[in-house]
Amino acid sequence: MPASPLPNATILGYPRLGRRRELKRAVEAFWKGSASEAELVEAARGLRAATRERLVELGLPAEGAAIPESFSFYDQVLDATLALGAIPARFSDVAAAEDATDLSVYFALARGDERHQPLEMTKWFDTNYHYSVPEIDPSTPFAANAAALVGQLAEAREQGVESRPVIVGPVTYLLLSKAADGAPEGFAPIDRLDDAVAAYAELLRELAAAGASWVQLDEPALVSDSLSVPREEIVALVERAYGVLGGGEDRPAILLTAPYGDSSGALLRLAALPVEAVHADLVRGTLPAGAFESGELVSALHRKQLVAGVVDGRNIWRTDLRVASGVVQDLRLAGVDAVVGTSNSLQHVPHDVDDEAKLEPRLRSWLAFADQKVSQVAVLARGLREGADAIEPELAETERVLADRAAAPGVRVDGVRARVAEVSDADRGRASEQERRDAQRALSIPRLATTTIGSFPQTGDIRKARAAFTRGEIDQAAYDGFLREEIERVIRLQEEIGLDVLVHGEAERNDMVQYFAENLDGFAVTEHGWVQSYGTRATRPSILWGDVSRPAPITVEWSRYAQSLTGKPVKGMLTGPVTILAWSFVRDDQPLGDTAAQVALALRDEIDDLVEAGIGIVQVDEPALRELLPLDADRQAAYLDWSVGSFRLATGGAAPEVQIHTHLCYSEFGEIIDAVDGLDADVTSIEAARSRMDVVEPLGDHGYSRGIGPGVYDIHSPRVPSVEEQTELIRIAASRIPGEQLWVNPDCGLKTRGYEETVASLTNLVRAARAVREGA
Ligand code: GLN
Ligand code: ZN
Repeated sequence: MPASPLPNATILGYPRLGRRRELKRAVEAFWKGSASEAELVEAARGLRAATRERLVELGLPAEGAAIPESFSFYDQVLDATLALGAIPARFSDVAAAEDATDLSVYFALARGDERHQPLEMTKWFDTNYHYSVPEIDPSTPFAANAAALVGQLAEAREQGVESRPVIVGPVTYLLLSKAADGAPEGFAPIDRLDDAVAAYAELLRELAAAGASWVQLDEPALVSDSLSVPREEIVALVERAYGVLGGGEDRPAILLTAPYGDSSGALLRLAALPVEAVHADLVRGTLPAGAFESGELVSALHRKQLVAGVVDGRNIWRTDLRVASGVVQDLRLAGVDAVVGTSNSLQHVPHDVDDEAKLEPRLRSWLAFADQKVSQVAVLARGLREGADAIEPELAETERVLADRAAAPGVRVDGVRARVAEVSDADRGRASEQERRDAQRALSIPRLATTTIGSFPQTGDIRKARAAFTRGEIDQAAYDGFLREEIERVIRLQEEIGLDVLVHGEAERNDMVQYFAENLDGFAVTEHGWVQSYGTRATRPSILWGDVSRPAPITVEWSRYAQSLTGKPVKGMLTGPVTILAWSFVRDDQPLGDTAAQVALALRDEIDDLVEAGIGIVQVDEPALRELLPLDADRQAAYLDWSVGSFRLATGGAAPEVQIHTHLCYSEFGEIIDAVDGLDADVTSIEAARSRMDVVEPLGDHGYSRGIGPGVYDIHSPRVPSVEEQTELIRIAASRIPGEQLWVNPDCGLKTRGYEETVASLTNLVRAARAVREGA
């Protein structure tokens, strides 16, 4: 300190699994015991070296800490837990074991073992990435362990790269933590801020000693209204923490980031902190209104850099370089030392569009994955150095591409647009609840009806058949025949177990969103577009690029066939519009609500066809309803309006005698309880087993009057819940909400489970429901 300024191009982070998910394979081989820890460490080192080399090749300078060290073996929050030495007491035996290594402790926290439940996992801000939730209590140790970070710095230096360690910042870390079991009533992890900050200060000292010129501390908490502390107080906490960290003598220069949303309300205060650079997400957020003109921003940023997050790290479209260039050039003109950056880490986008040989070339030309985004950052930075004229060819080229995209067939389809324009409020409403209840009596559904959430175990056989079909080794007829047998087996099994409302088992679906994407117009799928979802798990979101319509019925034949096999009702099974959008890459050229309405109309037609085919109950899953809730309170009402509206549009055509179900995957939905009510589904199933029915009471208090199926069987582990256990959960639920409203079901779908435990658990579930019915 003082360090030389950051070069004028950087990114906040880069995908970690590798271009061909090399890290996934290496880590899983280590877990299986087929690779040693040394081999895993070596594989990770190779991957990090390849990343640095690639980033330099793409135009980030090797000097001056432009390159972030954003590698993680599993999760960046877990990395921070290890770096802070904040090992929960319940794992202290693991850490004390004679053969313990940093990595063995790390994976024990992530995955648990015979004697330890793993750390809980939950979604990272409004993304589909999951982090390992730290457990903090008044005596959790905080003792800096910079070994991993220091090691990466040294590796980089050997490679001729000066890199920048990245750590989740103290305020975000603690606000994302939960109080460890047994912590005193009223304790909150953030109470430990001063202790944590002391450990961060020590980390910074060690990094400085190891030669780090810069460090990046991520504080996305700054953009969120969904944390336990109001935003205003979060800013104050950040001021307190960085006042201390910035005051330290022996430390690297600090880049404080605020990704995933709008930090404009706090930017002037952040700029006043004793840090050397602040970042703002200028895709989701803005600069403080008026602060520019008044000169306030420039004076607040005096001798500091502003990393302008103008390249979108959440989507896969080519940036409008002319607009982005305008923003950074204006900053520069106003006297701000601007650095071109991304809105957030690129961990949420795949590696490289050039790997997608099978994508239609015209569509491919509109796209930018991580590597293309890095190149765009580099171009914009060159524009800062050499003037906008120097990059005019690149600006003109993106303009041409964007115009091509806007005019391409399929992007705007008149018929689809006309239909959306004609939608009226009446299309979003069904008959009254009473009328529906009366009409649905014809379904003869018993009290405490038992059902499942949709999928049955996806066995190796199912995967093998699908792969053989994809490779062309078996033909359509053979594959369909296989699926029919599978459906028949699953129906017979459910009859034997004695469930009341059956499902066809979803064997034909590779994924609950991709399956629909593959069968709707307006979507494309990728070959290598993997995005980390948690640990070694990745998903391959589809690309929603055009107006959406349904060329032909999708699920109808499977449901019809399943229903033909049994006298019991079989639920039709669809994925809802919000979830289809949440788990795809969506277009950025129109409001999400407009896209959702198109998807909703396609699903509405599908429901019509299901009903026509004799299906009396249709479930429309919306597990992502809460995930897409904006972090920013100001934007939540508009979101809830279009998201709930699109679900209602999808289901609003169903006659009163058709029973509409929905499924939500999580138990904390206090924030969206009105929205859940607003969906107006006849029956809603939710996760509830682990929280022991905590969700039922607020629903009861809220006056929720329709059917509710709180999960009584935790499907996240192979453990078989006993009859007694499930009986007890049903009784708890029945004490909180009238029994006539209650359904009995597992927490979620069964696709990740094995058959043995599934059959045992469902058998117990049916017995439990009977026990409560008879006892009542
Ligand atoms: N119907 C889906 C299934 O059972 C629901 C999955 C989910 O909620 N994520 O697999
Ligand atoms: Zn679920």
